[in-house]
Parts: sequence; structure tokens; C-alpha cells
Amino acid sequence: MVDIRGVNKHFGDLHVLKDVDLQVGRGEVVVVLGPSGSGKSTLCRTVNRLETFESGSITIDGQALPEEGKALAQLRADVGMVFQSFNLFAHKTILENVTLGPTKVRGRGKADAERRATELLERVGVGEQAGKYPAQLSGGQQQRVAIARSLAMEPKVMLFDEPTSALDPEMVGEVLDVMDELARGGMTMIVVTHEMGFARRAANRVVFMADGQIVETAEPEAFFSAPRSERAKDFLGKIL
Ligand code: ATP
Ligand code: MG
Repeated sequence: MVDIRGVNKHFGDLHVLKDVDLQVGRGEVVVVLGPSGSGKSTLCRTVNRLETFESGSITIDGQALPEEGKALAQLRADVGMVFQSFNLFAHKTILENVTLGPTKVRGRGKADAERRATELLERVGVGEQAGKYPAQLSGGQQQRVAIARSLAMEPKVMLFDEPTSALDPEMVGEVLDVMDELARGGMTMIVVTHEMGFARRAANRVVFMADGQIVETAEPEAFFSAPRSERAKDFLGKIL
């Protein structure tokens, strides 16, 4: 579903992605771990073409990433992305936030988009907030709306970049619950997170990055109980 091969990227002199290879199959959940600055966010952003890269290739469901224009908007719709900051449109209601993409990019009718948005908002537990504005919701609620907004585009893959890092601790669980359900429902997901509980229960594979490289790939239990590389041991020693 996602095929990343030999991707290299620099920011000026800084080599931030070094020959990165990662294949994610349909329905697979991959959790990306690694120290700050290792390139996790850059990797996610590259998959979505929010960043360019110099060499290598990335395909989604066999399709290469277009550089720009309408094809890019379509492709971005196939690749949902949820960030640490929720990035909702502040001057639109929750319902409008979720219907905007499907009507503008997917060409759905308004009534159809609203029906589907209502279903999704209920599914993530914020159905009653549909008429409110983002600032009237808690962080956890806003992040669940952001997830619903991505899902409304019927993406083939969902990227999550530390979706719970900006939340108060009591709201982390409600967002992880939604992600757990998505994972169980067969969504293809790439998740950057420090939530080791989520990694253990939801990930099919853990990918450990350091210094722009994928250093280690393993099943979660194997990774957490017996990391192979010194860098992964060091990292786990600090966070667990
Ligand atoms: P964190 O865990 O802190 O989120 P990360 O693994 O997501 O870190 P990235 O944000 O991908 O790391 O950054 C990788 C490297 O690229 C870092 O050295 C960072 O400073 C650098 N970097 C990221 N974005 C830019 C940018 N727009 N311009 C220049 N350098 C950047
Ligand atoms: Mg990051």
C-alpha cells in the first residue's frame, strides 16, 4: 500500500532521510519510534508530499506521488494525516470542518457529505458537538474531529504524527481508543508516537529511526523485550 524506497532528503547540509526503505501492507499498522530529530516527522511529511525529497521513490497503492496540482490534492486525500496540533479551521463548525474536503476535493454532494460526516463524528464520540466551533471543544475532542475529518476523505492510509503529544494526559486515552478502533477495523496506518502501550497492542511492526535512518524493524514484543541495536536499547532505556 505504501512503498518507500531509497528516499533521501536534505535540509541544507543536513541529511535528514538516508536511504529510507519502508513498505507498509494493506491493513498493516506500523509504529515509528526514535529520538527527537531522527526524521520521523519528515518521513511522514514526505509521504504526503508536504516535503520534497531528492532521490528514491514513494508510491501509494502503486501510484507515484504527483508533484503538484489537482492530482496532488487527490493523492493527499488518499493519505490522511493527523498532526500533533489539530489544525481545524477555526471559523468553521465541526460539521463544516468534516464536510469541506469531501465536497471540495471528492466532489460529494452537500447532503451526502453531511450524512457521512455525522456518522463519522458519532463514531469518534463527538456527534453532539457538530454545530460548535473548534475552540469550544477540548483538545481530545478536537483531535478526534481531526481524525474524523481525515476519514471523511476515505483515505487509503492514515499517517499520525504524535497525535496525542499536545493533549492533557486525561485526554490521551480517548484519542488512542479511536486509533485502536481504526487499527482493528483494518486501516493501513503509519503512527509516530511515544505511546508504547499503543505500539504494543496495535502495531504489527515497530520501526526505529535514528539519525535519518531506519535502524531496526521488528514486531513490537521483540522490539520492546529485546531490541537489537545499541541505539534502540539506549532509547528504550530512557523512555520506559
Ligand atoms: P521529534 O521527535 O522532535 O518530533 P523528528 O524525529 O520528528 O523529531 P524531524 O522533525 O523529522 O525529527 O527532523 C529531522 C531533522 O530535520 C532535525 O534535525 C530537524 O532539526 C531538521 N528539520 C526538520 N524540519 C526542518 C526544516 N523545515 N528546515 C530545516 N531543518 C529541518
Ligand atoms: Mg516529529
